[in-house]
Amino acid sequence: MPVNVPALLVPFQLILYPRLVVPTLTVKDIRHLNFHALRQAGYRGAVFDKDNCLNIPHEDKLVHGLEDAWSECKSAFGERNVVVVSNSAGSHVDDGHIQAESVQHHLGVHVLTHLKFKPSYSCIGSIRQYFSALPDPVEGHELVIVGDRIFTDVVMANRMRQNVRKRDSGRKPQAVWGPLAVWTSGVWQREATGIRWLERGICWVVEHCTTAPDTSVNGQHLSAFLLSPDDKR
Ligand SMILES: [Mg+2]
Repeated sequence: MPVNVPALLVPFQLILYPRLVVPTLTVKDIRHLNFHALRQAGYRGAVFDKDNCLNIPHEDKLVHGLEDAWSECKSAFGERNVVVVSNSAGSHVDDGHIQAESVQHHLGVHVLTHLKFKPSYSCIGSIRQYFSALPDPVEGHELVIVGDRIFTDVVMANRMRQNVRKRDSGRKPQAVWGPLAVWTSGVWQREATGIRWLERGICWVVEHCTTAPDTSVNGQHLSAFLLSPDDKR
């Protein structure tokens, strides 16, 4: 795997914006997300990481057991409004975007092709471009961004939110607060264990040393977007 320079630069940005590494929601895996509740709250699109979130790394099929949650996600947002953004499939290391094609076939949603790794601003630009080109465009703050890596997926969502706030300052208030940064803490296959521990450690320190913002969306507590293991789909 080539070096992810945008992720390596994240610690420098933390000096100014430490909460960039803090997810809005933490779940073990996507089965714990209530997609219909998210849609009802005003979120209209979702961005998913691939490896160790939806798929086992280097495999193109959905992880066994996630089928119901994945179908629910696609029915809640609509297939066009769900996109996979990976630092493997669809990135510049995916020659001819062959893996992107295969993942697209297995997951039934678009796999975004992008030039620079997450969490780069270039990748954020590609995501915006995709959603703004839809027949019924989706804005950045209407997205839910889900992934298993703090320095890539969570930071990208939080950077995008910072960006949304700057762009929209002075405009009318948004319908929802977003994008939501959802961290899936479970791992389907061990990889980058040391870096993951470092990411978790930094996140823990930041969470305990800084003040959390209001954790509600339009007056709705974030727990409304979670499903307990006993909830039936
Ligand atoms: Mg991943």
